[in-house]
Amino acid sequence: MQHETRKHARLSASRTDRFMSCPGSVRLENQMPYEPAGEAAATGTAIHELSEQLLTNQLIPLDVNPEHLAMAKDYKKFIDTLVEHPRKRLIEVNVDAGLSTLHPALGGTADAVLVDGDHLHIVDLKTGRVLVDAIENRQLLTYALGAMRQFNAPGTITCTMHIFQPRAGHSKWTVTGERLIEHGVQLKAAAELALSPDAPTNASVDACRYCKAKTICPSIRAKVQDNARTDFKPDTQVTPEMLDLATLAATWSEAVQSAAKDQITKGSTITGWAMKAGRKMKFWKDEKLVAQALKHYATAWELKSPAAVIKLGLDLSEDLIGEKQSAPSLVKEKAKE
Ligand code: SF4
Repeated sequence: MQHETRKHARLSASRTDRFMSCPGSVRLENQMPYEPAGEAAATGTAIHELSEQLLTNQLIPLDVNPEHLAMAKDYKKFIDTLVEHPRKRLIEVNVDAGLSTLHPALGGTADAVLVDGDHLHIVDLKTGRVLVDAIENRQLLTYALGAMRQFNAPGTITCTMHIFQPRAGHSKWTVTGERLIEHGVQLKAAAELALSPDAPTNASVDACRYCKAKTICPSIRAKVQDNARTDFKPDTQVTPEMLDLATLAATWSEAVQSAAKDQITKGSTITGWAMKAGRKMKFWKDEKLVAQALKHYATAWELKSPAAVIKLGLDLSEDLIGEKQSAPSLVKEKAKE
């Protein structure tokens, strides 16, 4: 299945956490223009596609990124060893049918579902470097609920939800079928509220982080203004609430800068500001092969960066080193004298 072109349900499981915390985010995000996927999302899509090809015994293209292939292989090994003799092993499971009978806008695709007797395993492959916790993870609860309903499984089952991250580790959480049913009640109510015309917005660090509507959202704006009014003295003790507000303000600022980059790239002028091309950077194509090639030069490997190792004059195959350009940045132009 083409992951990039997969049709997203209106309230897809990946948005569950946001619309349950901030029901109004659905309405506001729908008002924003389409944004093509960024580099991290494109990498995630590529690794998911490779993983699906490996797990379903399809041919792997010859020109794949070796780092992506290594991560897909790690994930395949995880799935292959999770349950010794699963009764069912399904890859890329669309759970729309299970969720849409709860509310027609709900849906999603779980990366893997394994059935071991009356134990359901739901797996989500994530490709970021920061470990995402499976505990109380509402995206996973939604996949699990969808699978449970789709398979007509009773409330007596047990379900373990896994997040597997090749670059960060493995987190899991086991719940009863009753807990999934309870999530369903909350999810249905949240979906109804999120799609109502006056769904309220509710800013928080977690909900706003990846929300596309930050630049037009009244709630985050109000929080940023609250933050600007904070009376900060040299001996002020920073509280968690103050830090939350500061983080939200930073998130809002990043969204404004990102909108500015987009506008300049499309030809608008913002007086005094310009885009500067990103720097060329070298990277290791396959760290395991580099570690092998440098096994007699421990100090060189400790330097880590290809540029630093090249400076030492070591003879390294060009096949080990790739080159890419970092993203362009927004810069303030120097005032004319
Ligand atoms: S920016 Fe935050 S408060 Fe505003 S809609 Fe998005 S998630 Fe909700």
